[in-house]
Amino acid sequence: MINLIGYPEEKLKQLFTDWGIPAYRVGQVFSWIYLHRVQRFEEMTNLSKDLRARLAEHFVIALPRIAAKTHSQDGSIKYLFELDNGSQVESVWMPDETRKTLCISSQVGCRLACSFCLTATMGLKSNLTAGEIIGQCLAVNNDQREEGQITNIVMMGMGEPLDNYEEVCQALRLMVSPHAMKISNRKVTLSTAGLVDRIRQFAQENIHVNLAISLNATEDATRDQIMPINKKYPIKDLMDCLKKYPLKPTRRITFEYVLLKGINDSDADAVRLGKLLSAIRCKINLIPFNGYEGSPYQPPSEERIKSFQNYLIQKKFSAFIRNNRGTDILGACGQLAAQAMTGSPAQ
Ligand code: SAH
Repeated sequence: MINLIGYPEEKLKQLFTDWGIPAYRVGQVFSWIYLHRVQRFEEMTNLSKDLRARLAEHFVIALPRIAAKTHSQDGSIKYLFELDNGSQVESVWMPDETRKTLCISSQVGCRLACSFCLTATMGLKSNLTAGEIIGQCLAVNNDQREEGQITNIVMMGMGEPLDNYEEVCQALRLMVSPHAMKISNRKVTLSTAGLVDRIRQFAQENIHVNLAISLNATEDATRDQIMPINKKYPIKDLMDCLKKYPLKPTRRITFEYVLLKGINDSDADAVRLGKLLSAIRCKINLIPFNGYEGSPYQPPSEERIKSFQNYLIQKKFSAFIRNNRGTDILGACGQLAAQAMTGSPAQ
């Protein structure tokens, strides 16, 4: 049986056409599953009994199962999901006054081996399907009924989204489709370690979500050391590709920069960062390193972080120090790795 969650809109329209059913019915089905979060075809009361039966013959509506929830003192919640194949991934729910942001995963583990990231220590176990990717959003919306629904989605959880290209694009299309999840493409962000060929390809897709780049260093020698993918796509190639990225007029590329004490946090780094980004419409998120057991790195002092930021602000960049959310539950950037593996407690 095929999971209807994650199934491409165009493909379902084609199937309906083959069945002699008008394509607009797809919008009705999608609104049941993506907005009303109905999980049984019988409940889709504006569809004929015949169509409901036919759908039930071909499809199931399956969400990833919530295996554990861990609450942070700051109000964020880490969800541990169990997938059909038994593997586990995590999402982090981060509500504030105006936004409800969900950080979702695209892979079980990751193969990029960034030296400061906990997920990397798992290696790549498997790719998520489009249904499992968008299913994290639906399962959390289901769970958060009273708190309100997701307003923003960031693909910054476990995995490298552009290393699971087709499934990620399919999920993104459904997130922003006016017939499915209806989230504005301005409120969805894909974060990548910088797979240049894939970024070029992604620029040609008609998806237009925000792009975030994990830069994390200003010289190849350092970036090679902390992000091995840099050997394949060095800083210059990455920057050239981003300078040509077809950014919509009001959009900016986000650069993420993990600050590692003594590695990439010097004044010279700040100067080089300013030079690298001077020709790109962008904003910069500085992320003080989030620690985990066994990591050799440390975050810089408050003072160093501030002075790094101040230099960039003085150079007229929008540079933010990213609020670390969920550090107490290993839910912050780079701290996600399935709980079953790390043995951290579930609540
Ligand atoms: N693979 C994608 C998305 C996952 S990582 C990417 O590289 O963008 C999401 C962000 O968390 C990245 O910017 C990464 O640089 C950052 N990150 C990873 N480990 C971290 C850690 N231990 N502390 C702080 N930030 C970290």
